Amino acid sequence: MAEQSGADLNLVGVTKSFGAFTAVDDLSLTVPAGSFFALLGASGCGKTTTLRMIAGLEEPTTGRILLGDEDVTRLRPYKRPVNTVFQSYALFPHLNIADNVAFGLRRRGVKGVADQVERMLHLVDLEGFGKRRPAQLSGGQQQRVALARALINHPRVLLLDEPLGALDLKLRRQMQVELKRIQTEVGITFVHVTHDQEEAMTMADTVAVMNAGRIEQLGSPVEMYDFPGTAFVANFLGQSNLLAGTVTGRSGDDVLVEAHGARHSLPASRARIADGSVWLGVRPEKMHLATGLDKVPAGHQSVTGIITDSSYVGVSTQYLVKPAWGDELTVFVPNSGVSAPLAVASEVTVHWRPEHAFLLPRPEGQT
Ligand code: ATP
Repeated sequence: MAEQSGADLNLVGVTKSFGAFTAVDDLSLTVPAGSFFALLGASGCGKTTTLRMIAGLEEPTTGRILLGDEDVTRLRPYKRPVNTVFQSYALFPHLNIADNVAFGLRRRGVKGVADQVERMLHLVDLEGFGKRRPAQLSGGQQQRVALARALINHPRVLLLDEPLGALDLKLRRQMQVELKRIQTEVGITFVHVTHDQEEAMTMADTVAVMNAGRIEQLGSPVEMYDFPGTAFVANFLGQSNLLAGTVTGRSGDDVLVEAHGARHSLPASRARIADGSVWLGVRPEKMHLATGLDKVPAGHQSVTGIITDSSYVGVSTQYLVKPAWGDELTVFVPNSGVSAPLAVASEVTVHWRPEHAFLLPRPEGQT
């Protein structure tokens, strides 16, 4: 679809205050043209406010918003080449699906839109549904109509505010794949707001994790998951075991860490900080369990403890292991093997490859 090309989106030092409260705090980011960008964060962190400023529904207190080369900071919403899809589909109940999709074009006086409507319905996999009313469609189908209705206007940036929030889990997962397919096909810039980390990671080329009005970290899903930048990101994107420790020195290319009386090491390339108080992080699926008879592979780092809980979760079993010093570690063991599950109260050694750990700054006093 040549007429729909994305635009770079730039936010430069954007702040939004409501009275004394700062909802978005000096935010700067670049979304490359044609990419799928997700703003991810907990409720109240400023995602929707950011989206509303891009749409022109909210004016920044300070800072600039650029679409391509154009500064749109003070431009009225309807003058921006931007459309928004909301969680509430907001379809017109009295219009059929084709007329809902055609609405934006007709309002601008465009004639002969039937072909374009057909193309859009084909794009969202709803061919043949044009004559139905919204009430005769499922939630997922209505959401796709809302998408077609936005895309027919050829926006250069499409904003999506929790668009899948009202769908059940299975449909949501299907729609995530669909949305990604559609974005790749139309090639316009998508900015997607969600609090669901799996959703952001499934769809986006780039994810920005927001916390209290600021970007905590921005990167590709793989980078951010594999090597998070802060403890907040490590916990927000999936689960992490974080051991409070202190750097004790270097040995060649490795950083040495003492945590709860045990010595550990990891490659310096996996350390975001190489002295002082640190979190030694390991993802639950990167940890393995060994019992009395098993040998811990050479070079692995380890901690011993007692299994306090085991839960079967289909593809894996989740174990909680309590070391002598306190907080439980979470370990995911794939269920592909033939070995019997380990019993609660068993003594085990939790072990991991040093290069699967990461080291993050730990504010003094946090444990
Ligand atoms: P959610 O996922 O719950 O929608 P969010 O991350 O999108 O949350 P925002 O809606 O951007 O969060 O709100 C950020 C903060 O700004 C919240 O604390 C909210 O109460 C506050 N806020 C938003 N709009 C206004 C407003 N018009 N007046 C005062 N405070 C506001």
